[in-house]
Formats: sequence, C-alpha cells, structure tokens
Amino acid sequence: MIVAESLAKNFGAKVAVADIGFTVPEGQIHGLLGPNGAGKTTTTRILACLLTPDSGRAWVAGFDVSQNPQKVRENIGILTEVPGLYERLGAYEYLDFFARVYGLPGQRRRARIEGLMKLLGVWEMRRQRLRTLSKGLKQKVAIARALIHEPRVLFFDEPTAALDPEAARTVRDHLVSLIEQERSTVLLCTHNLAEAERICSRLSVVQNGRTVAEGTPSELKAGIERAVTLTLASMRDEYVESVRAVPGVEDLATQNGCITYMTNRTAEVNPDVVRALVAAGADVVSVQEEAVALEDAYLHLMKRVNDADGAARHTA
Ligand code: ATP
Repeated sequence: MIVAESLAKNFGAKVAVADIGFTVPEGQIHGLLGPNGAGKTTTTRILACLLTPDSGRAWVAGFDVSQNPQKVRENIGILTEVPGLYERLGAYEYLDFFARVYGLPGQRRRARIEGLMKLLGVWEMRRQRLRTLSKGLKQKVAIARALIHEPRVLFFDEPTAALDPEAARTVRDHLVSLIEQERSTVLLCTHNLAEAERICSRLSVVQNGRTVAEGTPSELKAGIERAVTLTLASMRDEYVESVRAVPGVEDLATQNGCITYMTNRTAEVNPDVVRALVAAGADVVSVQEEAVALEDAYLHLMKRVNDADGAARHTA
C-alpha cells in the first residue's frame, strides 16, 4: 500500500511539489499523469526515499518514509525509462548480481531468476551480454531486476516510453501479468494515456506540483462532452421535440431514423431522454454513447486548469 499526504518539495526557489496526495491500495496500479515538470518524478523519488519531503507524510508498504527509510527501501522496486544496466554482464549474471546484493540465498535466488526470466520471455537470452539485447529485451531484464527481491511496492517511471509500439505492448502485458501474480502495489508515472487507461485502477493528474484530479479512468472521463445516438422504431416530429426539450441536450440532429445529441452529463441526461421518449409514445431500440478516450478528458482538464491559472494571474 502507498499513502501520500500533502507532500511538498522545493529545490531552492523552485516549487517542484506543492501539494500531492493519494492512496494506492495493495495490489492496485495507480497512474500519475501530468505534463513535463508537473512533479511526478519528484513525488516518486520522495516515496522511494531518494529525496526528503519539505512537508507532508507518506507511508510505503506500511513504513513511514521519513521515520523508516531503510525498511521502505527493502520493500520497493524501481524501474525507470532507460535504466542503467551493466552492459558487459550476461542477462542471468546481471540478475544474479542484484539478487546477491539483496541477500537472496542460493536455491531461492536461482529459482527466482529462472521464474522471472521465463515469465518475461527472456530465459533463452540468459547467457547473452546485455549490450547485445534490443531495448525491449533490456527493459524486460530491468523489470526482472526491479522485481528480483519480491518487493511489495513498485515505482515505474515511463517503463515503455523508449520502446517501439510492439515491444511496449509485450513489456506492458508482461508487467500486468507479473503484477497480478505477485499482488504488487504499483505507482506508474506515464505520458502514455492509452496505457494508463488500460492498466491503472485509479489515476492522479498533477499540474504545477498539485493534484488537480483523481479517480478511475471512467470517473475522469465522466464530465466530457460526447455524442449520444438513439435508434427509434419509427421517427416522428414530436419524438424529436421531446428529446430537444430535455435540459442538457445540445446540438440535436436527426439522420436515418436516429436522433443524435451532445451532452457532458450522460448519466443524468440519457435516462431523462429515454423517459421523455417513452412518455411521447416512442419505442427506443438502442442508446449508444460515443467512446471517449482518457486523452480527451486529460486535455480538457489541462485546458480548464490552465485557463483557471491564467484568470487567477490576471486578477492578481
Ligand atoms: P517529466 O514528465 O518531464 O519527467 P515530472 O512531472 O516528473 O516531469 P519533476 O521531474 O518532478 O517533473 O520536476 C518538477 C519540477 O522540479 C521541474 O520544474 C524540475 O525542473 C524541477 N526539479 C526537479 N528536480 C530538480 C532538482 N534536483 N533541482 C532543481 N529543480 C528540480
């Protein structure tokens, strides 16, 4: 489990993190999203005990990062975008080195390395030197390294950013199945919104060192305007007018026996529309909502936050 409460960190006059907080229950993947310089890496570094917060508190795997950093370090694994690997070592040799650093005894060490390498599909390359492996394969070895000591909490900073789409997908799939299998708790910093949407249970969006939104991917997308298309058994003017009269229905249009409207409150507006149509005597065959990507919600949120910041500066 990870708990971060009102974390703050300055570097001289630069405010890197002003107020960031979230809770990640055990076994869940939590995404940390935000533009460059928003404070994601600084937050991760505080939680991984690589930086001390100026204020706020945090607990990782049950240990307070300020009071018990050594215990936190023993229980975490870290994976960055381009991890530094000892390129001259063979893949197995490299993992063996780290497993020894963590004090894994002989038989357990061998079983753990073999298990992870097989799960990640790099067992065949165990004797190959790291410098001869592709980026995707190197990243898989780096994942195995992050997991070698069976950490309860994992910090991933852009784990697939340097990979081509195919390699990113296999690394992501392996990552997800490993996390499920090991019941690890994960904090994932990423700019890849499609990836975040696919694998994160909840997301925090940060901007200028502050949490500006938090929720499940669906919750973050809830307020975004989208098209809704109704198919009716037959079309009449009074049906169209009954839909047009529902508060929250915008830009209504009809085409090929369908009514389409825009709304940013689907949860309330769609049931009202169906009720209005039934009251008018229409038979509703289907209601289809346009799919909204997390990217739309993210860009919408960023625009709102930037507009609000701009207005606040103007007033000041
Ligand atoms: P990115 O998506 O680009 O990785 P980020 O959200 O991870 O960005 P951070 O790396 O946490 O952002 O940086 C937050 C702010 O703090 C930035 O303005 C950055 O320049 C600044 N910063 C980070 N580390 C330091 C440091 N060691 N010294 C001075 N300023 C720093």
